[in-house]
Amino acid sequence: MMKTVLLRPHHLLCILNFKGFGYSRDFVRNMAIIVKSVQKSPDTGIRLTSGEDAICRKCPLATSKKCRRDSDGTVTQMDRELAQLLKIPYNKTYPAGVVFSLLRRTLDECKLEKICSRCHWYPSGMCKDGLQRLRKGNFFHEPKI
Ligand code: SF4
Repeated sequence: MMKTVLLRPHHLLCILNFKGFGYSRDFVRNMAIIVKSVQKSPDTGIRLTSGEDAICRKCPLATSKKCRRDSDGTVTQMDRELAQLLKIPYNKTYPAGVVFSLLRRTLDECKLEKICSRCHWYPSGMCKDGLQRLRKGNFFHEPKI
């Protein structure tokens, strides 16, 4: 397996939806690098974490304790619900192709709404677009598992 990216579960969806928006220039630059490296190779390792990840690292809302957007636990809850849906344990590494194949098979619009509708990005419609893109096989060529 190639290099491993540490990700909070809900960031799998943010990666699918990424359209160059974010919290700061540094954040967007970092996110673009991560999205590109995952898209370029389905062999890239993904390890889920419940704490700060490769995307949070450049986020102005990250503090040494926790994410400022998570003061009411919304972000942690989204992570937990998505990890449960995928049945992927934290701290184990899987190829990105396998993780996104699982996501394509298990996530639908209803579940997306249930998990993500409290996020302030959700009303933009980008998250639904990301799911469509995955369904159409436009994210990357997914390996058969
Ligand atoms: S710190 Fe919070 S808002 Fe920033 S990328 Fe991480 S989870 Fe998202």
